[in-house]
Amino acid sequence: QQKRIEKGQVGHFSESLRLQNIRDHLLSDRLLTAIEKSEMRLVFQPIIKSKTGSIACIEALLRWHLDGEEVSPIEFIPIAEQYGMIKNIGLWVVEKACQQIITLSQNGRALTVSINVSVIQLQDREFVTHIKTLLTRLKFEPSLLHIEITESVFAADKTVLMKQIKALQEMSIKISIDDFGTGYSSLASMQDLGVDIVKIDKSFIDNVNGSGSNIVHAVMQISQSMGYQVVAEGVESLEQVEKLNEIGVHFLQGYYFSKPLEVDQLTDYLNDRLN
Ligand code: C2E
Ligand code: MG
Ligand code: MG
Ligand code: MG
Repeated sequence: QQKRIEKGQVGHFSESLRLQNIRDHLLSDRLLTAIEKSEMRLVFQPIIKSKTGSIACIEALLRWHLDGEEVSPIEFIPIAEQYGMIKNIGLWVVEKACQQIITLSQNGRALTVSINVSVIQLQDREFVTHIKTLLTRLKFEPSLLHIEITESVFAADKTVLMKQIKALQEMSIKISIDDFGTGYSSLASMQDLGVDIVKIDKSFIDNVNGSGSNIVHAVMQISQSMGYQVVAEGVESLEQVEKLNEIGVHFLQGYYFSKPLEVDQLTDYLNDRLN
């Protein structure tokens, strides 16, 4: 009896693994042509300055519309990393984001854009040159570009990353640590890397009105003493906004202010705020 159940579980497990593999292969195959087939697009979520309520920055988030279905970046980014497509896709994201932000930056308002970059991209020795060439060609002001990297970078080779981050910062690009608190990084390793901005992960913001407040407080205090600016991710309620303001978190981002917007919606959003 016991054995049969175990066997059944193993069989079930390997079956779901097999299906997962088939899907990964299918997606990796379709990813190769996703850009040329115009299946990719960017959506934009504002990051709000706590003190003034104004827009500090806009995060570009990648979307993939495949055969009538939206595939989440949480699923396809790791596949793109694994199958060697992330560099091309990543450069397309930078180019597209900067182009669209330039178009939206009329009437003298200079918008700052924040882009998610995979560690694999960042480790590529040509990455900095590619960015430099791209920004020059687009005439995009580098100080208006932020690059978000996830904490997992701290598991990677630090010397290469430090060099890359430094080179980007010398161009006036700012570096953010995304999803802070969920991965391997410590505030000490962030000091080594010399990042500019810390984005506290949504999981801590979810219970900032309860047990999470101590953590946010602590991150805030240390960040302040180290000169980092702090963003709260995934802010969904007024209670959270009030608590985060009380703690003194510099920037807020989340559905409470705006979901990620299609470029047309962003245009309206910006126009509403100007008038
Ligand atoms: P992330 O960079 O931490 O982005 C935040 C995610 O949380 C986004 O999901 C956003 O839509 C979602 N979000 C924002 N505010 C709220 C909120 O108040 N409530 C809830 N429930 N969710 C909120 P999304 O767009 O599905 O992206 C997921 C992740 O995929 C991103 O996490 C990022 O790590 C990755 N990603 C997205 N675009 C790119 C890209 O262009 N390149 C790379 N390398 N990764 C990307
Ligand atoms: Mg991000
Ligand atoms: Mg995040
Ligand atoms: Mg995330």
